[in-house]
Amino acid sequence: MNRPKVIIRKCENYDKKELIKIFSEGLEILELESKIKGKIVIKPNVVLAHPKVAPSAFTRPEFLDALLSTLIEKSKNNTYFRIIENSGVGVPTSRMFKRAGYKNLEKKYPVKLIPYEESKKVKVKLQKGKVHSEITVQKDLIENDFLIYTPKLKTNVLDFGMTAALKLNIGILSDKERMKYHTQKLPEKIVDLLEIGFPDFIVTDAIEIAIGGNQMTEHPLQLGIVIISDSSLAHDVVCAHILNLDPKNLPSLKEASNRGYGSLNLKNIEINTNISIEKLRNKTKNVNNGFVRVDTVNGPFKILSGEPYCTGGCQGIMLDWLYMLKDRAPSKFNRKKDVTVVIGKYSGNINSKKVILLGDCTEVSGKIQAKKVLKIKGCPPRHRDLILHFFLKTGVRAPLMRPELLMDAYPFLFWSHLKGKIKNMLI
Ligand code: SF4
Repeated sequence: MNRPKVIIRKCENYDKKELIKIFSEGLEILELESKIKGKIVIKPNVVLAHPKVAPSAFTRPEFLDALLSTLIEKSKNNTYFRIIENSGVGVPTSRMFKRAGYKNLEKKYPVKLIPYEESKKVKVKLQKGKVHSEITVQKDLIENDFLIYTPKLKTNVLDFGMTAALKLNIGILSDKERMKYHTQKLPEKIVDLLEIGFPDFIVTDAIEIAIGGNQMTEHPLQLGIVIISDSSLAHDVVCAHILNLDPKNLPSLKEASNRGYGSLNLKNIEINTNISIEKLRNKTKNVNNGFVRVDTVNGPFKILSGEPYCTGGCQGIMLDWLYMLKDRAPSKFNRKKDVTVVIGKYSGNINSKKVILLGDCTEVSGKIQAKKVLKIKGCPPRHRDLILHFFLKTGVRAPLMRPELLMDAYPFLFWSHLKGKIKNMLI
């Protein structure tokens, strides 16, 4: 049986000529050149883009610029391009496209940016889904002739330390479906989505990766490589090794392997690289990916965690909120408050000025001595809600709470959804 291929190429910066050379070589090695025809759909990672607080969270526009140039040069007549995405829950994708600098791509190339909220959508039944039996995705995703994923390599505490090709599929869902099973079931959820989000070609922006904090606000590290593959799992197994992670400890990779998407063993992957993986591991060896239990983090609040422990749910989202402060407002992270946050079913007595019960399932069996006991609902709550609730309940303003992002999150998001509703009514 043929082994899946992963190609790694050194690339110190976003030089267009160099990138075109690398992408062309990737297409040739994977024998995909003849497939560049018809509707080419590209799915990047644009979870959040903001020059001050989220400068390294998204696939860079220079990367897509070079990719589009490469594809156009190799394409047949009647080839056209779509860039699809659903940014983080609570922010409109159209604004994130703009903030990420993608609008220029529309001016330069025959490509259309299609934000999830404003797109035509279709419901698709999943034959092999463990948690999802049906999902609502963009029509363009289903009607592609060639599907390209362009992830950004990052650390991510919600998925055991890493986000690459497999997790990119979270951005094919609606906001509501995205939060559903975003609990301890996240690995099964991610692998369910491979049935639909199964790219033909993956090209990863690992020139500048983002590490060590919140997946949106964390800081960059120059890794200087592009990773190319035609298998999401093989790609992620190699990425895990590059980040000094054991693929066997990453539940979504394990789940994908158990469901027949490939092996976790590097020996079963054909790696074509012009830089040794050992050298790359050396570059990332001192990276702290931030993946720790949330109740061990010495931040502004005391955190108590019971069961279940949802890495992809409340505990993970709380950890992400703490890292948002640590990344972009460290003085707030270090300022202690007499606030205790409880997550899950916790046994024990609590004595604190304020107690916040986070998540629908949270309960305390024990005595609570507090001036106020407050609740934040959700399974799990959305990042946006957490930011708002913690501001209103504790006075701690997260760095993402900025006037322009609030404008994005409320009037612009409402307008985007309205446009989408009208478009879908007219189908
Ligand atoms: S509400 Fe409970 S089950 Fe749901 S994500 Fe939070 S901790 Fe997990």
